[in-house]
Amino acid sequence: MSYTEEIYERVVAQNPGEPEFHQAVKEVLDSLKLVIDANEEKYRAVSLLERLVEPERIISFKVPWVDDNGKVQVNKGYRVQFNSAIGPYKGGLRFHPSVNQGILKFLGFEQIFKNSLTGLPIGGGKGGSNFDPKGKSDREVMAFCQSFMTELSKYIGADQDVPAGDIGVGGREIGFMYGQYKRLKGLYEGVLTGKGLTWGGSLVRTQATGYGLVYILDAMLKDHKIDLAGKTVVVSGSGNVAIYATEKAQQLGAKVVAMSDSNGYIYDANGINLDVVKDIKEVRRGRIKEYADAVPGSVYTEGKGIWSIKCDIALPCATQNELNLDDAKTLKANGCVAVAEGANMPSTREATDFFLAEGMLFLPGKASNAGGVGTSALEMCQNSQRLSWTFEEVDAKLKQMMNDIYAKISDAAKRYGVEGNYVTGANIAGFEKVADAMMAQGIVL
Ligand code: NDP
Repeated sequence: MSYTEEIYERVVAQNPGEPEFHQAVKEVLDSLKLVIDANEEKYRAVSLLERLVEPERIISFKVPWVDDNGKVQVNKGYRVQFNSAIGPYKGGLRFHPSVNQGILKFLGFEQIFKNSLTGLPIGGGKGGSNFDPKGKSDREVMAFCQSFMTELSKYIGADQDVPAGDIGVGGREIGFMYGQYKRLKGLYEGVLTGKGLTWGGSLVRTQATGYGLVYILDAMLKDHKIDLAGKTVVVSGSGNVAIYATEKAQQLGAKVVAMSDSNGYIYDANGINLDVVKDIKEVRRGRIKEYADAVPGSVYTEGKGIWSIKCDIALPCATQNELNLDDAKTLKANGCVAVAEGANMPSTREATDFFLAEGMLFLPGKASNAGGVGTSALEMCQNSQRLSWTFEEVDAKLKQMMNDIYAKISDAAKRYGVEGNYVTGANIAGFEKVADAMMAQGIVL
């Protein structure tokens, strides 16, 4: 049995009931096989893979808070500090009823390689809670965030672990958590990213994941002599990533015809009116269904099915495993040529394998959505320097970062004889830097 197979079996045996974590580890190990086989003796000597797949630390805690009816509610809170070989732990906090330790381990594991790809000094982490901010009053969200941070604050710091937002955690939640951290610690430091612009946030952070996704998509398309302008695009989700991916795709001349949320999707043959979506999602916190009421000629369909819409380019920007093999086949049959993941692991393993086997252009989330965490690291730089850069400065750095990531993953794929396979390219390029750092630092964590 190969070293990678051995480690995968070990992960499955030692982490029962965590299918998403198994899935993420398998995908990474499968594509690292070429590198691992070539360096097996060296890596085995220090149990490198055994250490890589085990989080350095998992903090798990209770989050009690009082709802508007005076009832005490209790949620679960977590922080997975996965790997600090190349920098302080960095990764988002997710508030969603589906959150559990296995999902956060999958996300934390992916984050190690993604953060490495940005070229910036940040390690991998992830955290969150099974708390659902949807339908809660601002006061309830504040009560929850303050209780969550009261415990989390013991384990994070500007040079130790710097969380950010993710699903269910936007500017409002970051604000409540930052305020509580400051109150508890008496420190005005860059301990969270995604902060408001008047209190330490970075311009472009809000747009960064979506913009970055489209920058790297454009780099890949250009490399393959395809023009993004004039292409029809389907974007799933209507949250932070989806909205700003749509905005940048439209700015670059593409036509986005569909978006969704967890209830259903809208189709607008004339191209999505993003001002309407922003008003529904960012201002009123409503449902995507309301778009059809506001925009004549658009159609709302309840349930899944967004991938049945004909498009040239698909951008899954909602959540993990939202695009399965049947969806992948439908996209191909409808003439889709490129898929770039805005969400983390939105394509199932079977769907990913199908895209690669069919020779479709496919960018995995750990490369294509890295602009978010990359810009978070730029926010950390500005906080340390006590400076604020202009929108143009940060946007230029983000664009350069995404072009560099494309060059790195494309080069790694070529070096290992799998040209155009950006899944393998991303995993190898991300892994090499972390592995070197772990080897150099000895047997620590
Ligand atoms: P948001 O909470 O802003 O939006 C999430 C969107 O996805 C919403 O439209 C939501 O619909 C939909 N969604 C969530 N869960 C499900 C589900 N189970 N089924 C169908 N739709 C669902 O999150 P973000 O936009 O920030 O994150 C989206 C993805 O991008 C996640 O995978 C996240 O990990 C990833 N990501 C985010 C980054 C960031 O900077 N924000 C950085 C890198 C990756 P509804 O409102 O109905 O729940």
